[in-house]
Amino acid sequence: MRQDPAYRHALRRRNNALRKKRARRLVGAYYTNPEHFADHLQHCSCAGCGNPRRHFGEVTMAEMRASASEKAQIGDLSRECDE
Ligand SMILES: [Zn+2]
Repeated sequence: MRQDPAYRHALRRRNNALRKKRARRLVGAYYTNPEHFADHLQHCSCAGCGNPRRHFGEVTMAEMRASASEKAQIGDLSRECDE
């Protein structure tokens, strides 16, 4: 991949233009400024589309894994203290 800044800037501008074009196509019918959604295309935050943490108080997979790991490590430590 070319690393010179001028090329990367040109590439970024091209990709941004393509994202804006895609946003106009996908959400242009609903909004007067569809390019506002160009970076993520997310234009709804209802319970079906939105963040489950906000709507249902769910925890993420990473948090579940971290919690399980934390409990396992605390268990290991308490066993070491008993010995
Ligand atoms: Zn929705």
